[in-house]
Amino acid sequence: MRSRTANRNGIVIRRRVTPAGDIIVTLLTPQGKLKAVARGGVRGPLASRLNLFHHVATQIYQGPHNDLASVKQAVLEGALPRLAEPERYAFAHLMAEFADALFQEGEFSEQAFDLFAGALRGISHQPDPEWVALVMSYKLLGLAGMVPQTARCARCGQPDPAHPDPLAGQLLCATCAALPAYPAESLDFLRNVVRRTVRVSMETPVPLHQRPALWRALERFVTVQIGSVHSWRQLVPATDSPAVALV
Ligand SMILES: [Zn+2]
Repeated sequence: MRSRTANRNGIVIRRRVTPAGDIIVTLLTPQGKLKAVARGGVRGPLASRLNLFHHVATQIYQGPHNDLASVKQAVLEGALPRLAEPERYAFAHLMAEFADALFQEGEFSEQAFDLFAGALRGISHQPDPEWVALVMSYKLLGLAGMVPQTARCARCGQPDPAHPDPLAGQLLCATCAALPAYPAESLDFLRNVVRRTVRVSMETPVPLHQRPALWRALERFVTVQIGSVHSWRQLVPATDSPAVALV
């Protein structure tokens, strides 16, 4: 493979500084996911540009061997400063980990990029960042072709299941289930979120006290389908708080 330089525009979804002072970043770009290293980056101007969730225009050099590409230049195209607010940061971080786990290099491309960029904007600007994160997580799953089964019981195939599936995050019929059925709003969300437009889903938020069960289902589904997402468990909102159990 010959060496080449390319311009790539993307959002930083992962960032790690090595003991040698290199910054290793993963970018989600309209052409797919890209991992690259800014050698000695922490001591130069790239340090502040290659921050998590920054939208950057980069110049990437791919050497003649199949080693990690290098970031030669990076220009900040856009940042969402409100993502630094703790309650927003947690959801943005969760989405970034999710996108990193869900998408492989070169796959899904532009649509995934647009959806992810939209998710970050929503988490930054909307009054209910948790709802944005839930809706967009399911939309990203749909785009990746991983859609929880909702028409039939995940265990026996009976139609119209309405109960949580604590193992695989899908839906179970009354006969197979040990847990009570989902409330109507949660059930409507699980059945329709993937094909509904984001706008419509944003207008019909599921009540707060129903969300821990939806996060739990998503966490189970993702763990079973793509393996455990790095730090996902710590990022998903606490699902067993007494306040929730009392509702
Ligand atoms: Zn069943």
